[in-house]
Amino acid sequence: MQFHDSMISLVGNTPLVKLNNVTAGIQATVLAKVEYFNPGGSVKDRIAVRMIEAAEQSGELKPGGTIVEPTSGNTGVGLAIVAQQKGYKCIFVCPDKVSLDKINVLRAYGAEVVVCPTAVDPEHPDSYYNVSDRLVRETPGAWKPDQYSNPNNPRSHYETTGPELWEQTDGKITHFVAGVGTGGTISGTGNYLKEASGGSVKIIGADPEGSVYSGGSGRPYLVEGVGEDFWPTAYDRNVTDRIVAVSDKDSFQMTRRLAKEEGLLVGGSCGMAVVAALEVARELGPDDVVVVLLPDSGRGYMSKIFSDEWMAGHGFLEDTSSATVADVLR
Ligand code: PMP
Repeated sequence: MQFHDSMISLVGNTPLVKLNNVTAGIQATVLAKVEYFNPGGSVKDRIAVRMIEAAEQSGELKPGGTIVEPTSGNTGVGLAIVAQQKGYKCIFVCPDKVSLDKINVLRAYGAEVVVCPTAVDPEHPDSYYNVSDRLVRETPGAWKPDQYSNPNNPRSHYETTGPELWEQTDGKITHFVAGVGTGGTISGTGNYLKEASGGSVKIIGADPEGSVYSGGSGRPYLVEGVGEDFWPTAYDRNVTDRIVAVSDKDSFQMTRRLAKEEGLLVGGSCGMAVVAALEVARELGPDDVVVVLLPDSGRGYMSKIFSDEWMAGHGFLEDTSSATVADVLR
């Protein structure tokens, strides 16, 4: 009989897929690491497994304990799946701007979701931050993974994503491109690839225009899951050779092209990372192998990026950006 013991053992070992159409005019090979093949649908399943198993080993998380984390998205799904399989409870805290669909996904996996008002100061007792801290204090057996500071976030990528890419490319990878949110993906994968290649693999971070990683102040942007207004400790700034800033418009237009032209229905941070990867790949030759990591599926963004009304309402729909025209002419 062939079966997996539980969904947990399906985390990782995601496929690499060549991009064939958005790469027109580019000589380098551009490969996508498609993370929506993880059971929870995103790259965050990897960190959920590693953070929970490390907390079990250190004794921070005890049998029957409760995982409390301020998250509304992919990290919550990963934690919820691993937690239910291992017999832990989950309480997630999220701001009320989060869509009901996302909250219902977390509840479907059995998590409790506490929704906090967005329109209050961080110091207010009902703020997102204060509510999660209070829940940790008041819930017996509570443990907060804190993906922004947890070293097992980058470590999970050092132990899985990095080695997978080295093996899948037979050591031929020359450039790795990923969006930076907590920084866990790029730091863990990047450090592994630097070590494996003797320092020759170049690590490129993709960042929404306005975020701190590309020199901004945290100005709002619409692409989700990437960019920050502070520097998390999960991010190792020394690992990146280059940071490419990408606009919302370019990110979302590329996200739609990935669905139409490559059969990849993925999220907005994927489009952002691909824009950065193509910018890098354009300067390279036929022996170069660029890998771009695509963190999640497009299913969670149907009423935004994949809605013509939403795109038009933000002025993102006209396909006359200089990058697009240049691509066509190339
Ligand atoms: N894209 C999406 C959709 C995400 O949820 C995340 C995680 N915040 C990222 C990209 C960035 O990954 P990391 O936190 O490892 O930098």
